[in-house]
Amino acid sequence: MTEVQRTKMPEQNPKVRAKNFDEVALGYTLELAQKEAARCIQCKKPRCVTGCPVNVNIPDFIAKIAEGDIKAAYLSITDTNSLPAVCGRVCPQEEQCEQVCVLSIKGESVAIGRLERFAADSMMGKELPQEKIEKNGIKAAVIGAGPAGLTCAGDLAKMGYDVTIFEAFHKPGGVLMYGIPEFRLPKALVEKEISGLNELGVKFELNTIAGKTITIDEMFEEGFKSIFIGSGAGLPKFMNIPGESLNGVYSANEYLTRINLMQAYKEDSHTPIKRTKTAVVVGGGNVAMDAARCILRMGADTSLVYRRSLEEMPARNEEIHHAIEEDINFEMLTNPLEIVGENGWVTGIKCIRMQLGEKDASGRARPVPVEGSEFIIPTETVIMAIGTSPNPIISSSTDNLDINKWGIIVVDEETQATSIPGVYCGGDAATGAATVIKAMGAGKNAAKHMAEYMTKNRN
Ligand code: FAD
Ligand code: SF4
Repeated sequence: MTEVQRTKMPEQNPKVRAKNFDEVALGYTLELAQKEAARCIQCKKPRCVTGCPVNVNIPDFIAKIAEGDIKAAYLSITDTNSLPAVCGRVCPQEEQCEQVCVLSIKGESVAIGRLERFAADSMMGKELPQEKIEKNGIKAAVIGAGPAGLTCAGDLAKMGYDVTIFEAFHKPGGVLMYGIPEFRLPKALVEKEISGLNELGVKFELNTIAGKTITIDEMFEEGFKSIFIGSGAGLPKFMNIPGESLNGVYSANEYLTRINLMQAYKEDSHTPIKRTKTAVVVGGGNVAMDAARCILRMGADTSLVYRRSLEEMPARNEEIHHAIEEDINFEMLTNPLEIVGENGWVTGIKCIRMQLGEKDASGRARPVPVEGSEFIIPTETVIMAIGTSPNPIISSSTDNLDINKWGIIVVDEETQATSIPGVYCGGDAATGAATVIKAMGAGKNAAKHMAEYMTKNRN
């Protein structure tokens, strides 16, 4: 009979980890992985596979872990997912594969993500059979080296295309490198997973901004036959309240880029970051949670201000749970009105308490201010994590590229084609901020349709 309780993941103690950037979840041992794999009942019509945006063959890889053939499990996953160590750690499994697992009807779902991570970590750096690729010499370009661009590039390279990725930063990875912190996703591991693309012959043009250093028209002139835009949604939003230009106010993007990509948390880093005793982070998503947990580790007594209630927070359950364990102070149903300061520096944030009212268009109860409940939280740093939108550099430098009113590039949902023949787009640039695996799914779909386009338009 299948055990009801899922196998616990060993973790760093909250008191210890709140002071370091080492990974929080330590991963399954072979014994724990096999124990968890044995809970899978091997459904004939597995719903979990359809719950995964790239349709990983979940029962197959889990059966192989149960048998102890980890290499076969890994190869089964990488048939459809090129970044399993990443997805096993950061996918919101509770809304995807694990949400539809049959075991979750009466108890806890199989820990699919943890098992995927186990298979990927176990095979990291090991020799694996290399597919023989027939090169066709046709050039394709990919803009942005985030999950969407990396997946698109990998799939095109496997089909024989000569792929170049143009990336604005000095390192590939997108949010995996600059946004998600080391304690959730170690950077050495992301680099190792990306290095698979070098082996496929993908070229990287780093420090290159599409739309500035090279335009889409110039890429076509240089002989690229099809172009994928995977430039993400990295432009931070602000609340437009008084005080947002005071010193000590950051966007979450800036703060996280300094900490993660530039490793400002290390004493010997050349990138400056101000360590303060107190901090307030505004927002309720994964980005807010990451910013709060980073600044906590930089020594600040940290509060999180969110205008709705805990139940409505969009962040992954695991991140909320970890943040609570680490003693972040949650100020729920609270909305900022103004950032206050002295001599140009932040000294506090003025907020008002909210209560939940009627449901709005999204089906969630609308938060409404409680009259006369204004109060000030004293703080030296404020981090705004209330959302992002696509950067307009590409759309403003490319004629005939359709965008909607939020700056999102308009695509045909079936093919990822944009309004320009031969130009495709996917990931956050085409959807607004979403998830790693959805971006990867879009990159995969685009690669398939780009190949069809290039075959039809050979000359
Ligand atoms: P990105 O990852 O944003 O990559 C875009 C790349 O394009 C970047 O490298 C950028 O430098 C480059 N670029 C941009 N403009 C140009 C240009 N003009 N020329 C050249 N290059 C350019 N999702 C999850 O599934 N789970 C999580 O736990 C999770 N946590 C997150 C935490 C944070 C802090 C953030 C910010 C996001 C998180 N997400 C999470 C969301 C997820 O990371 C994104 O949905 C995903 O990375 C989108 O992939 P992408 O390839 O579309 O874009
Ligand atoms: Fe689940 Fe993500 Fe793995 Fe798909 S890629 S099986 S959604 S953890």
